[in-house]
Amino acid sequence: MIVLLLGAPGAGKGTQADLIKKKYGFKHISTGDLLRAEVAAGTELGKRADAIMKSGALVPDEMVLELLQNALKNSGKGAILDGYPRTAAQTEMLKNLISATGEKISAVINIKLSEKEIVDRIVMRRQCKKCGNIFNLRFIKNFDGKCPKCGGADVYQRPDDNETAAKKRLEVYHAQTAPVVEAFKNEPFYKEVDGNRPVEKVFEDICKFIER
Ligand code: AMP
Repeated sequence: MIVLLLGAPGAGKGTQADLIKKKYGFKHISTGDLLRAEVAAGTELGKRADAIMKSGALVPDEMVLELLQNALKNSGKGAILDGYPRTAAQTEMLKNLISATGEKISAVINIKLSEKEIVDRIVMRRQCKKCGNIFNLRFIKNFDGKCPKCGGADVYQRPDDNETAAKKRLEVYHAQTAPVVEAFKNEPFYKEVDGNRPVEKVFEDICKFIER
């Protein structure tokens, strides 16, 4: 079973993907995370991707495809794709890849959020280096610099989570990712959910759709 999570950067795809993973045991495949791991490991691919990612632009399709192909191997019960596909070409690549493995896309969930809310969320987003928890400073009273989940003190902001890169990522999203929504929106397995609600409410809608 393959579930695609669509939505602008900051819409909550990563958070929802983690919850889906925990509940259904699917593999969470975030192409952004895979790319960040390449950057951290200092691989050739990572070196090429680093500056592109910092600017908020998309890295070339063929670079992401290689990472995705590897990640899709051994996905067991299923996979949640978070941040892929992001272009019309990637949509085609994914369809070919999936049909070649005999798998199928069971749900495409588009998390919708207003532009203003997206930029506000992105600039306040932080991640814990120790446990990977992603959280938003707006929702934490008296933030003490520590991860609210594990207490880790190494809390950081992604280099592309500043206002300039966030706006660029949104522009890219509208220009290049709109055709992805077009490709799926008339399918019976496509669903839009309102992302401007508490995490649990959004998750409830997603679960209902996955289990339909
Ligand atoms: P994300 O973590 O999904 O917000 O992705 C962070 C950055 O990684 C994006 O702004 C792109 O530079 C790059 N990226 C992630 N997924 C893709 C993709 N499917 N195609 C091209 N670039 C991607």
